[in-house]
Amino acid sequence: MNIIRAEDNAILIWNLERARTAYISGEEMIALSRWANGESNPFSQRLEDLGLLAPLCKQAVANAIQLSANINAPINSFNAPESIHIELTEHCPLNCPMCYKDGKVNELSTDYLLEVIRQAAEMGVFQIAFGGGEPLIYPYLCSVVTEISQFKMASTITTSGMGLTASRINELKQAGLNHIQISMNGSSKDIHSRSRDGFDEGIAALHLLQHSDFSFGINWVARMDNIDDFPKMAELANNCNANNLNILRYKPSPTENYNDCALTSEKTDLLENFIRKIKSVRIKVDSAFSNLRCKINSRTSFMAGCGAGRRFFTVGACGSYMPCSHINMKEKPMNLHDNSLKHFWENSKHLAMFRSLGESISAPCSDCSYLHGCYSCRAVVLPTEGCFFSGDKSCGMQGN
Ligand code: SF4
Ligand code: SF4
Repeated sequence: MNIIRAEDNAILIWNLERARTAYISGEEMIALSRWANGESNPFSQRLEDLGLLAPLCKQAVANAIQLSANINAPINSFNAPESIHIELTEHCPLNCPMCYKDGKVNELSTDYLLEVIRQAAEMGVFQIAFGGGEPLIYPYLCSVVTEISQFKMASTITTSGMGLTASRINELKQAGLNHIQISMNGSSKDIHSRSRDGFDEGIAALHLLQHSDFSFGINWVARMDNIDDFPKMAELANNCNANNLNILRYKPSPTENYNDCALTSEKTDLLENFIRKIKSVRIKVDSAFSNLRCKINSRTSFMAGCGAGRRFFTVGACGSYMPCSHINMKEKPMNLHDNSLKHFWENSKHLAMFRSLGESISAPCSDCSYLHGCYSCRAVVLPTEGCFFSGDKSCGMQGN
């Protein structure tokens, strides 16, 4: 199913089954307007091949193009979030050495959560991504997933896999959950346990998912203590028919020394070589590694780079709003009766800081041709450089 949304002189097309978004503006929007009026062209054909356009969408596309002339989005951002990340709970039964959460006490109330979901639907948000803590221990998970499906939004969870059973998978499927990512940092217990707890539970979850018809993938954090294991992780992902292997950048944790754990430039080059060579599984690269993504793809786009404040924001387990779950820039919890999601998206001073990075960031990013497809990761730069607008001095991938 494709959902079409008007943006500021642009449109967004979201495909629910493929969790894929196309941002269309300028000449491409003109080509799409011609398609809506019955004239097929190479651009519309490409979108049809990607499953992002179907003849039945013509009227919706024409309407969205017409509406787009009157939309005023916040500068350098979508008119509404594409997705909202929600930390359901800070509780977690595991005790991972690299955990970046300092407190484990809060949990969202269902009333609050249901109001967030209602307001998200009203804004035209496409997807709700649940994390934690451990989202599987949130007692109302199935009922909130059902609510999301009723609003025709997609939902995903990221989990250690602990507590995932065949019957739980079935319940979540029935409720309408679209995708599960399992966090695994190594193909063996020894390697995984250097940074995460729960290897056996993660492997058991992967086996269960392999024998279900559920869409799932693996989140893998690239670190000095597991980088050489990446080819084996790709083998594991391939053997269990995972939909993707998603590479996350290591972010500072209160319990570890950042420089001991983050990849050196030599090991980042090694990761790049692995990514280029491995074809057995779909490799995804997290936006915190958008410098690596820009280098591999040699291109930038409005959709790429750090999406905090541009494409999404986070609701924390204490109810606060944040640009990104990895950065402690919280704004007070909303009053359930005002239209606060929209208000936050349009007025947050923290989101505005993210949106102004392209104009305010310092070297080396300010001189880099990849800047507008990267923006570098504030969750890394802020604690390591001490300044929000600092460029990423550890980046060895600057474009000319
Ligand atoms: S600050 Fe970093 S982790 Fe957060 S959204 Fe941006 S790139 Fe991702
Ligand atoms: S120099 Fe900055 S903008 Fe350029 S690729 Fe590196 S982190 Fe991204």
